[in-house]
Amino acid sequence: MDSLYADGGGATGADGLYAGAGGRHHEGMTTPSFEQGPIRPPSEAASLLVRVVRNCGWNRCRFCPVYKGCRFSVRPLADVLADVEAMKAAADLLTAQPMSAVLHGGLVPPAAFQVALFLRDGGRAVFLQDADPCAVSPDKLATVIESVRRAFPTVTRVTTYGRAATLARRRPSALARLCAAGLTRVHLGMESGSDEVLARVDKGCTAAQLVTAGRRVLEAGLELCLYVMPGLGGRDLAGEHEHGTAAVLREVAAAAPPARPLVVRLRTTAVVPGTPLAADEAAGRFALPDDVEVAAELRSLLELLDGVRLELRSDHALNLMADLEGTLPADRERLIDLLDGVLALAPEEQAEFALGVRLGVYRTPRDLRDGRLRQALRECAPGAGEAAELGKLDAAKRLRSRFL
Ligand code: SF4
Repeated sequence: MDSLYADGGGATGADGLYAGAGGRHHEGMTTPSFEQGPIRPPSEAASLLVRVVRNCGWNRCRFCPVYKGCRFSVRPLADVLADVEAMKAAADLLTAQPMSAVLHGGLVPPAAFQVALFLRDGGRAVFLQDADPCAVSPDKLATVIESVRRAFPTVTRVTTYGRAATLARRRPSALARLCAAGLTRVHLGMESGSDEVLARVDKGCTAAQLVTAGRRVLEAGLELCLYVMPGLGGRDLAGEHEHGTAAVLREVAAAAPPARPLVVRLRTTAVVPGTPLAADEAAGRFALPDDVEVAAELRSLLELLDGVRLELRSDHALNLMADLEGTLPADRERLIDLLDGVLALAPEEQAEFALGVRLGVYRTPRDLRDGRLRQALRECAPGAGEAAELGKLDAAKRLRSRFL
């Protein structure tokens, strides 16, 4: 897959299993059992979750806490197909009730809540789990996708995580087979385009594999969403991180037709306690950039993306600026201006802005001029009005890991 910088998905336990034979009983309603994994991207919040593999077959990325300690396994095809049937049966039961009663009346069992969200959203999107369903044979994955399409004819979008190392090994014909079966989009955790950064965080792929994988996905007729992690180069490799990332994005974006531009989603790096990256930081091998340094890094990245066509998204609370979104190249200057608005603030305002965003009080630098919001920040962070700017910036970057 991809990054932790997806979102926690449904109400599953650590291993994401919905165990139990004969269905789940809840306040008068019983729905058939099926498995769901713990992770899906925010854009798949209302998607039906179909678990093809359990956990991550790589599981070595140093920043990633998601599947550490969990054993990878490929689920038998029959079990996955049985899950699709069980979800279909659950959907039929839920559709027989008024949706308001299902969602708000306590009728729906927790295990089937995601199915209810999917139905409320018009039954349009399906997401294949966990970290790298593309690791199974293309024929097997195509069979799963076809069964989903048959069971839920309203579905218009089927998406999956895919690792670059896996996708770069797939023949173009195999990816075309998945597209023909009904796969529409691949979410790929690129994180960085610098070989040095990728190696240091043990991502398990190279920049060349990212380019091959990305271009093949697009050339097969699929949509591609790449996740980039500002700050992952640390303070020492920030330049390599920017240049390598811009170079890979440029090469991949060139393979995207105008109707299906490359989508890039930002996931600012956080150091999660207990991860190998936290050990690197404690040992002095990694220094996490603060929010102002990340803003400068993003500005450089946008400068380097001159002439590149892509859609930029900032759809995660990890990011300082939720409004750093747009269509490149048309919006590139506007986005650079947004970053300049932060970089031009006085140091104490930069620190206050970063802390205010991380505490959920501020959204844009304009909020610094709002007396009501400044007071709200003082109330939830009593030190925010004082002079310890560096302390506030450090506090703000530590708060990032709360959003994972
Ligand atoms: S590929 Fe890396 S980032 Fe993605 S789930 Fe596995 S260990 Fe985590």
